[in-house]
Amino acid sequence: MLLLSPEDRVVILTGAGVSAESGIKTFRDCDGLWEKHNIEDVATPEGFSRNPRLVWKFYNERRTQLYKVKPNLAHTALVELEKMLGDSFFLITQNVDNLHERAGTQRLVHMHGELLKIRCTGCDRVFHIETKQPDLPRCSECQALLRPHIVWFGEIPFHMDCIHLTLKKCSLFIAIGTSGQVHPASQFIQIAKSFGARTLVINPDPDTYKAYTKDIDYFIAKPAGDALSELVQEYSESFAAKIC
Ligand code: NAD
Ligand code: ZN
Repeated sequence: MLLLSPEDRVVILTGAGVSAESGIKTFRDCDGLWEKHNIEDVATPEGFSRNPRLVWKFYNERRTQLYKVKPNLAHTALVELEKMLGDSFFLITQNVDNLHERAGTQRLVHMHGELLKIRCTGCDRVFHIETKQPDLPRCSECQALLRPHIVWFGEIPFHMDCIHLTLKKCSLFIAIGTSGQVHPASQFIQIAKSFGARTLVINPDPDTYKAYTKDIDYFIAKPAGDALSELVQEYSESFAAKIC
């Protein structure tokens, strides 16, 4: 049975599991530690107030890691899908790495921010960066302390209006490599379903999204790279048959 049809408007939500095959650890690997750090220390505004130096060190390390990893099969399969679907493709990522862009995805938003952006705690200006930052960097405009442009626990994610609009309009919602435990992304499946979309979860862990079982139409319990390659292959055959 075909999960995807050429008429579909597809919204995809990706999480840390999509970058796992590139070698970036997921959030919940090692019992709730992200790369051996306490979430409260490195991913909350309170942690940043307590110890900005530690937070900067953590994100500098994450940024350095970006130059050592490459997009994987899952990222490239999503690029293929976008080429076929065009404007009917929209990707929401919770990931702060840049692997989707490096693979070639164009229609995407980073709801939890980006490692290669930093923001001023004084004037809110956002700056692009490529390299490791100096110790406790300051804004060139107002001299206030700069912070990673990352949505920490307790903060509001980016692009929420646009995300809600696409969830209302989509006919197929796919959640890939995400645990379904981080609010509000975890609820997107329920929202899409309530507006009439079919829903698919791709995750090697069959217990994922347990709280949303009634909202899941299809579940593929495989790693993202394998599952997406198969899905895109199947879809490209039906797509070719339609345009021939
Ligand atoms: P999570 O760590 O809570 O869940 C990851 C999920 O990926 C798990 O359900 C796991 O079963 C699944 N998974 C593991 N390997 C997989 C594979 N090969 N294919 C498919 N799925 C696989 O991650 P989350 O739900 O994205 O939430 C964590 C938050 O932490 C994110 O919002 C993000 O901001 C941040 N984070 C980002 C990165 C990154 O940018 N690469 C990495 C870690 C954490
Ligand atoms: Zn400033």
